[in-house]
This record gives sequence, structure tokens and C-alpha cells, in this order.
Amino acid sequence: MDADKLKHFRGILLAQLRAHTRHILDGQSAALEYSDDGVKDSVDLSLLDVNREIALRLGEHESQMVADIDQALLRIKEGSYGTCARCGGPIAERRLEAVPTARYDAACQTLVESQLGTDMNYSL
Ligand SMILES: [Zn+2]
Repeated sequence: MDADKLKHFRGILLAQLRAHTRHILDGQSAALEYSDDGVKDSVDLSLLDVNREIALRLGEHESQMVADIDQALLRIKEGSYGTCARCGGPIAERRLEAVPTARYDAACQTLVESQLGTDMNYSL
């Protein structure tokens, strides 16, 4: 991967890192503050309830995300970014745009996940 592209993905990763770090710092207090946002709309209110639930459980997930981003940044530094950690083939740039922390190409990701179960799939 050429330097310009690495710089591009590094920028994405750093932006994500900042966002996640902010979430972690806000942490539990943010979960409580959601309740007093001055939002009156009922749809938003139900969303806020969901957000409060999520925020209370966010800590661990956010920590994992930050660890993934850290590792991706390290791979950029080491020159292995964009290379599948399993088969050594290139990871499609389209995939990296969607998942900048991707460690495997799509085929290997499927294999790895089927071996590990569904733990790696975080869904709301
Ligand atoms: Zn692979």
C-alpha cells in the first residue's frame, strides 16, 4: 500500500481513536446525563433509553475498539497494514474503508469468525 493511502487510513483511525477515547472518558456519567437532554420527542426518548442501556455497557466494548485501532496504527507503522494476518494476501481497500481496523481479508475473516464463534460480532 502506498504512502498516501496509508496516510489516508491513518487519518481515519486517528479520528476514530479520538471519538472512542472521548466516549470512554464520558463513560458512566454520560449514561446518566442522557436522561436530561431536554429532548421531548417520543421517538428520541425511546432512543435515549436504548442509548442509556448501551452507554452503561459501553466501557468494555469501547476499550476493545481502542485496542483494535491501536493495533491497526501499529501495523501502519510496521508496514503490515492492509495485509491479511492469516493468509498474507492484500485486504481490499473497499473493506478497509468500511472496517479500517480489519486484520483479515473477507474470506479469512469468515473462517476466523467461524472458528471463534460469534464473540467478535458486536451488535446492538
Ligand atoms: Zn486472508
